[in-house]
Amino acid sequence: MAKKRDYYTVLEVDKNASQDDIKKAYRKMAMKYHPDRNPGDKQAEAKFKEAAEAYEVLRDEAKRKRYDQFGHDGVSGSGGQGAPNFTSAEDIFSHFADIFGGGAGSFFDGIFGGMGGSAFGQGVRAGASLKCRVNITFEESAAGVTKTIELRRNEICSTCHGNGAESGSKPRVCSTCGGRGQVYRNQGFFSVSQTCPTCQGKGTFIDKPCASCKGSGREAKTVRIRVNIPAGIEDGTRLRVPDEGEPSDTGGPRGDLYCYIFVQEHDFFARQGDDVVCQIPITFAQAALGTELEVPTLKNKARVKIPPGTQSGQVFRLRGLGFKRLRDRGEGDQIVQVIVETPKKLTQRQEELFRELAAIEEKHVSPQRKGFMDRWKNYFSDSGE
Ligand SMILES: [Zn+2]
Ligand SMILES: [Zn+2]
Repeated sequence: MAKKRDYYTVLEVDKNASQDDIKKAYRKMAMKYHPDRNPGDKQAEAKFKEAAEAYEVLRDEAKRKRYDQFGHDGVSGSGGQGAPNFTSAEDIFSHFADIFGGGAGSFFDGIFGGMGGSAFGQGVRAGASLKCRVNITFEESAAGVTKTIELRRNEICSTCHGNGAESGSKPRVCSTCGGRGQVYRNQGFFSVSQTCPTCQGKGTFIDKPCASCKGSGREAKTVRIRVNIPAGIEDGTRLRVPDEGEPSDTGGPRGDLYCYIFVQEHDFFARQGDDVVCQIPITFAQAALGTELEVPTLKNKARVKIPPGTQSGQVFRLRGLGFKRLRDRGEGDQIVQVIVETPKKLTQRQEELFRELAAIEEKHVSPQRKGFMDRWKNYFSDSGE
C-alpha cells in the first residue's frame, strides 16, 4: 500500500488552520474530485476518499490532536477512535450528510446533483417527474421507433447557476434557523419543530435575488429529448425515461420523464395481445373452390392458402408474424380471418350462373329481378289508365 499522505497536505491547509478553513478546504476538494464530475476516473475517486478521511480526522479536535502528536499511527485502528475506512462514495455522503445534505449544505446544491438520493441523508429529494404524450403509428409500435419530443422543463437558472442570488452575491445561511430549515418552539413541556418562516425550510436566505429567475434558481426551457420506443409496445404503455425530469432543489437526482404511448389505429390491422389480426374478404367462388391469397403483414406480405370449402369467419394463423413479445422471447402470430362477401351487384352472366347453380341445388330462389321489376312497372302503368 502506498504511504499515506499528510492530512494537512491532502486538504492543502496550514497546520494551524481553523475548523472553518478545514471545512472550506474539504468542500473544495470534494467538489474537485467528486465522482460525478470525474466519471470513471480512479485517481479522482482515490483523492475524493483521501480528502474525506483527512477531513474526518481534522474536523474532530481530539482526533486532530492525536494526529498532530503521533501522525497516522495516532488515528489508525478501530472503534471510532481512528481514521474512518470509507469504502465508497455513498459511504462518504451518508457520513457527512450534515454538509452534503440540504439545509446549510445547500452550498453543494447543483454541484452534487444527480447522485443517489438517499446517500444525502434527510431532506434530499429527487427533482419533479414530468409526463408527456407520444403518438406513434401502428407500424412504429410493431417495429420500434426513436422519437424526438419537445417539452418545457424547469432548468437550473443560467444566470445564477441555480442558487437564486444576484451575480456576485451568494445565498447566506439563514440566521433564523442557523441553516437547519427548522425552528423549535416550546409548547408546554414539548419542543415543537416547524419549518423556518424566514427561509421556508431551505436553510439559506437570499438578500439580493437573481433578476432572471426572481430567486427561484430555475428557468423554463424548451428541451428536445430522444425517446427510444421498443418494438412491440402497446397502446397506453407508460415508458420511463430516467433523469429527464426536473432538477432537484436539494442536491438529489433529477426526476424522471414518463412518456405515455398512444398507438394510432390502423385501417387494416388490429392488435390482440401479441397477435395482429386482419380480415380479408373473399368471394363465394374463392371460398367454395379454394384459393391462395396475398395478405399484407407488419413487415411485408405473406401468402395464405385458403382450402376449398372455407367458411365465412374462418381464421388462418401465420406463425411468428405478429408483435415482438416485450416480456418474453419471440413474436406473436398474424391471424387472418376470411369473410365471404355476397356480391351486391351481379352482371347478367353471373346471375345466369347463380340461377343455374340454384337449379342444380333445387333450392327456391327469388324470381328474376328484371322480370319482377318489369311486372311492377306494368302494374302501375295499367292502373294509371
Ligand atoms: Zn437565477
Ligand atoms: Zn431559516
